[in-house]
Amino acid sequence: MTAARRGPSTLRKLALALLLALGQPARAETEVGIVTFTVDTAYASFFDRFMPEFFQRAIPGTLFAQTEAIGTAPNRITWDDLRSLKAQGWDFGAHGHAHVRLSQASDIELEHELAVPAARIFRATGVYPHMLASPYGDHDDWVLDHIRLYYDAHFRAWGNDGINPLDGTDHYRINRKQIAPTLPVETICAEIERAGREGLWLVYLWHEVTETPEHPWHASVEQFLGVLDCADRLRDQGIVRLMNAGEALKLVPHKP
Ligand SMILES: [Zn+2]
Repeated sequence: MTAARRGPSTLRKLALALLLALGQPARAETEVGIVTFTVDTAYASFFDRFMPEFFQRAIPGTLFAQTEAIGTAPNRITWDDLRSLKAQGWDFGAHGHAHVRLSQASDIELEHELAVPAARIFRATGVYPHMLASPYGDHDDWVLDHIRLYYDAHFRAWGNDGINPLDGTDHYRINRKQIAPTLPVETICAEIERAGREGLWLVYLWHEVTETPEHPWHASVEQFLGVLDCADRLRDQGIVRLMNAGEALKLVPHKP
């Protein structure tokens, strides 16, 4: 009785093993790349109108805000806004306190610009901000030495078209790409797809989104929504992974 049954069963196991073996690629498969969206400065107009576009698509990301303006300056986010991000899969980092050029600060000013945001954000949210985006991307080696005292990672405002290697990136010199108002959605979408297929970590930076972009740091509404739709679609197709910066940093080893 058992012999008759064991026959087909063994064959099935063999067939399954063969299928599994055939399914294995000859070389190691490229890891699916990661795209991270970041937002700097945190205007209330951006937060109220455009952050929900990320949330509706379940697109995570990272907000970098300068602390002096939070809840005080006109058209800036509130501490409640910052606290609300976690529930949407977003994390946040510091963007200085008064948004000054760090390489031009005095010793005392530099400590102030780095330490105050960390303390203020921790006190207001209960989360220590491990990441900093330097205002204007302005930094030098002296600034980086001080950033290391307070933060685990530093994001630039440019560099290498926003591309970072997935198998090792200097966490204190993370490249980001600001989307210029003239860049067509198809071009950006192709970049996202390439990052996904080639196993790269691509980090974008949004500042302001307007109907009529006037500056290089403005993006158009059409561009913004087009890029989000593209990222959403490519993520659903398994071509790219979308992560906030904190999650991505856990996967990308620090390689100075
Ligand atoms: Zn800024």
